[in-house]
Amino acid sequence: MSTLRFKVVEKAFQTKPVEVNTPKERPSEYFGKYVFNREKMFKYLPSSVYAKLVDVMDNGATLDRSMADAVAEGMKRWATELGATHYTHWFQPLTEGTAEKHDSFVEHDGKGGMMEEFSGKLLVQQEPDASSFPNGGIRNTFEARGYSAWDPSSPVFVVDDTLCIPTVFIAYTGESLDYKAPLLKALRAVNKAAVDVCHYFDPDVRKVSAYLGWEQEYFLIDEGLYAARPDLLLTGRTLMGHEASKNQQLEDHYFGAIPSRVAAFMKDLEIQALELGIPVKTRHNEVAPNQFELAPIYEECNLAVDHNMLIMSLMRKVARNHGFRVLLHEKPFKGVNGSGKHNNWSLGTDTGILLMAPGKTPEENLRFITFIVNTLMAVYRHNGLLKASIMSATNAHRLGANEAPPAIISSFLGTQLSKVLDHMEDSATDELVSLGGKHGMKLDIPQIPELLIDNTDRNRTSPFAFTGNRFEFRAVGSEANCASAMIALNTAVAEQLTEFKQKVDALIEQGEPKIPAIIQVVREYIKLSKPIRFDGNGYSEEWKEEAARRGLDCETSCPVIFDQYLTPESISMFESEGVMTKKELEARNEVKWETYTKKIQIEARVLGDLVMNHIVPVAIEYQSKLIDNVFKMKGLFPDEEVSELSAENLAIIRKISGHTSYIKEHVDEMVNARKVANKITDEREKAIAYHDHIAPMLEQIRYHIDKLELIVDDQMWTLPKYRELLFIR
Ligand code: ADP
Ligand code: MG
Repeated sequence: MSTLRFKVVEKAFQTKPVEVNTPKERPSEYFGKYVFNREKMFKYLPSSVYAKLVDVMDNGATLDRSMADAVAEGMKRWATELGATHYTHWFQPLTEGTAEKHDSFVEHDGKGGMMEEFSGKLLVQQEPDASSFPNGGIRNTFEARGYSAWDPSSPVFVVDDTLCIPTVFIAYTGESLDYKAPLLKALRAVNKAAVDVCHYFDPDVRKVSAYLGWEQEYFLIDEGLYAARPDLLLTGRTLMGHEASKNQQLEDHYFGAIPSRVAAFMKDLEIQALELGIPVKTRHNEVAPNQFELAPIYEECNLAVDHNMLIMSLMRKVARNHGFRVLLHEKPFKGVNGSGKHNNWSLGTDTGILLMAPGKTPEENLRFITFIVNTLMAVYRHNGLLKASIMSATNAHRLGANEAPPAIISSFLGTQLSKVLDHMEDSATDELVSLGGKHGMKLDIPQIPELLIDNTDRNRTSPFAFTGNRFEFRAVGSEANCASAMIALNTAVAEQLTEFKQKVDALIEQGEPKIPAIIQVVREYIKLSKPIRFDGNGYSEEWKEEAARRGLDCETSCPVIFDQYLTPESISMFESEGVMTKKELEARNEVKWETYTKKIQIEARVLGDLVMNHIVPVAIEYQSKLIDNVFKMKGLFPDEEVSELSAENLAIIRKISGHTSYIKEHVDEMVNARKVANKITDEREKAIAYHDHIAPMLEQIRYHIDKLELIVDDQMWTLPKYRELLFIR
């Protein structure tokens, strides 16, 4: 019965690494080979067009139609030289992936033949026939159609035979239907607010960019084993499977030697990523067996988000060429660590200053502290929203489930920075500012060593940790679009900085000198934002109680957490910063609830099918064998001996009956609970019903399946087991 399982396991063990052709050039030479970067723009565009396009990219200038035609012509020439025959608007709808619809360059030439054509009109805007993307009711097929519009701040690139054009995706009525449009608005907002605050310290700053460096965790699994697990195939995670006797307890995987098959995959992936202009840098084994991490050098946030989306799809493609499947699900296996995507975030100026990095002079450090404290305030005020921004049906398995990170947002600063803030909080303003000689004021702000990055002073349990020159938002899910977290964070910081400036300006207007005015507001914020600072163990029970006392958001139910998007504070924040309207937020929440429901619904269906087609039949077959054996004993031995000799078998027979009947009954019950939930028309209520009544049943049923896995003859068990799935040779 289970020959398939042994065959796929055997094949997985015997598979050899794929030979990877390393390019002859050095990485610095093939980096960006398939990207229409500035170097290529310069080469393929007339110089006036090039200058205009740079202005568009750097300063948000608008591009007129004739310019767009010239840009499109240059792009087409470059892309066709690389073998591209098609182009697509590449966008990020409210699903986990990206969307694209390819059109070829060919057009009639008017003389009965064909020619390659690509106009500015096609570059700038398109109408993807996209009535079936999630839109939360904003765009129904009759009312308004959506369109995609070119985002010149992220360069176009070629994948295989297609020129890909990063675009936003918007309804004709103006609402955004994707992640990119609100992200660009959030980045614009934080740019404006941060530039204004920078001007207190340096009038030359013209632009502040948000930076993002993501660290992508993932699992690899042999494709044969993957194909033999319908749960992995259909839901991205194992819905059953008893823990292997050995998994991560020896801590021998983290930073261990990379298996050669995996090393070949990584090498191939990195070459292709670099060719696409993704500056990948770091690779290592992660904590769980078969778990790995990839991280690039940080980039401007919008580009980094695009690159993360691109690398996730590249990973899927390259993995297949190596006989693997990549699992981006946050929790593919029970009992071993799940995968996250740390979002390293900071702000930096066009004058080359990292605003989250300490400086050398007291004045520079006041600027540093200003940005740190405003970030803390933003995270404090919107901690519930930030949690909602990274919450999903799949990430819910990590958050609060005793694994990095807890379902409460707090921030770890480390001892040095905490001391500086405490010092500022405790001293009076005139103690911090003394009047020096010629140079006017002197600041008594402690020297901060430039390198705060101290590995002994790191807190792995903190969801939002300061790490030297940036904050690391660690709660983001491995499968998520980073944009969701980045929209919430950058908007919150923008709102906070705007408010900070208003307060400082008001004090200045009342006659307070600038520096004391800044210090006064910073000190007030240090006091106010204190509840968000937490340096202890985020996994402990005491922290949950403490956090509740501090008034932090402690909700753990995924669908209820989404309510955070619709609180008056969140709506006001998104609207005042021009990022999203109430209508958009409502529509997007509909999508979130609907997606949640669908995910649990699919899992419940898959589990039901697997139970009835695989688990119960195998268990009963094994049970019949045992029953058979007991009967045969009866023919051989006298009755009084049979009961003794068969005691063990009889016990197993009973156990199997117990587990199978529990499973069958509860699968039926789960079907009924689904029927009830499906009748609910309100998406939020429906998602809550799925969360409260159906999701827990998946776990209860699984418990009994996993018990059966331990009892039933290994030869008969059809599904590959954890010990087979989790060890790549
Ligand atoms: P660790 O695992 O120790 O956190 P990694 O080297 O794996 O460190 O990843 C750190 C990530 O943070 C990289 O993507 C790096 O480019 C990024 N990073 C470093 N400095 C900044 C910064 N100022 N702003 C944003 N990201 C940064
Ligand atoms: Mg990190």
